Amino acid sequence: MLIAEIANIEAGLKPIKKDCSLDSIDHKMLKQDQNINIQRYEVAKIRLNKLKVAYINIDNKEYGVCQECEEDIHIERLKLMPESKYCVACMSELGL
Ligand SMILES: [Zn+2]
Repeated sequence: MLIAEIANIEAGLKPIKKDCSLDSIDHKMLKQDQNINIQRYEVAKIRLNKLKVAYINIDNKEYGVCQECEEDIHIERLKLMPESKYCVACMSELGL
């Protein structure tokens, strides 16, 4: 799903062609769309990387264990954020 989303955003990231029929306002709007796409792309990429790390760690005993207190991270939390490294208590304590 995330990979499809990234591919989707990537398709939207094609450089804006200089189109003489566009006035400067249209061009500005295209630029804004482009910037939003770039931001979404960065966020999705970071999330994908974190997920990759999580998948690698699934084979690892450390997966699902809080790196701070070494307690198990709640399964509901892992379902929402598989890349979680900390339990909810430690996250808030660490200010993450
Ligand atoms: Zn913890």
